[in-house]
Amino acid sequence: MMRYMADYVRIEHEFPEYASYVVINWCLSNICNYACSYCPDELHNRSRQWLPLEEIKGFCERAIRHYEGKKLYFEFTGGEVTLWRDFIPLCSHLKSLGAEVGFISNGSRALDWWASAIPHFDQVCLSFHSELAKPGHFLDVVKLLHRDRRVHVNVMMKPETFDYCVEFARKVIELENVSIALQPLVIDFQDRLYVYTDAQKAVLAGQQENFSSKVRYTRQFTTYRGSMAAITRKGERNVFPAHHFIATGMNNWFGWDCYIGVEQIVVDMLGNIKRGWCDVGGVIGNILDPKLMLPVVPIRCNKTMCHCNFDIMATKIDQQGP
Ligand code: SF4
Ligand code: SF4
Repeated sequence: MMRYMADYVRIEHEFPEYASYVVINWCLSNICNYACSYCPDELHNRSRQWLPLEEIKGFCERAIRHYEGKKLYFEFTGGEVTLWRDFIPLCSHLKSLGAEVGFISNGSRALDWWASAIPHFDQVCLSFHSELAKPGHFLDVVKLLHRDRRVHVNVMMKPETFDYCVEFARKVIELENVSIALQPLVIDFQDRLYVYTDAQKAVLAGQQENFSSKVRYTRQFTTYRGSMAAITRKGERNVFPAHHFIATGMNNWFGWDCYIGVEQIVVDMLGNIKRGWCDVGGVIGNILDPKLMLPVVPIRCNKTMCHCNFDIMATKIDQQGP
């Protein structure tokens, strides 16, 4: 039975170990070698250069000190972060400080780049963009990485290439230990989904059963974020991946207390720090700000649609609940 958000009073991490990590999600620049039609221009138009490596390292070290006692996971996004010549040195430095490192990539770099990067990161999320990705190369990258590293594949489900994307997703789930999500696309990464046919919506809604649950796992992984458990007033617990909340419209937490800023922060390509990509709470400060105070309490949500997977994966509590 489809449930509605009004039935739930709490969204929490499926497993407590997810909450033991503070995740810093950092958009390093808008330099990208792709220009996907569904990607807002400002995310790939190359108008923002990489910040200096030493400035980025400096803030990372401050964050590690601020969150002392917690495990830190840095997740870098872009643009296409693998294009930055200092990216592997940054990852290597963070690993040497005891932090864990992952990133999102379109997977386009050559295989020898990926081979040299393997020692310097823990996890990678590879996004398959059907307009520009070469499926053979993309699968070769996944095959190179998945024996040593945690690999997640997001197949970006453009309505016009939906069947092609589904076929590609079928190839991915033949590989062991590679998690997958068929990502519904959101217009301008804002608050409206692209238009999908009823049949396409059914594929998206049924992906747990038909794709995710079919992946064979032969190894244990550290996982920093994952599915969220939705708890009803009566204490019933239903677990969903973040994209399910978006695909089914269960992503309105207006008036709830949200733990973005406490469990995770985001940094934009100018070095500005916010609680989440939703912008609730605004800019907290800049990585160069010597008086920067990072949040320690949750914030009341004032949006009617939570559209970003990363933002969804933070605890949310309806204070009107029991
Ligand atoms: S690969 Fe990512 S950042 Fe680059 S254009 Fe596509 S969606 Fe945008
Ligand atoms: S929109 Fe922002 S504040 Fe609201 S629930 Fe989502 S992440 Fe939390």
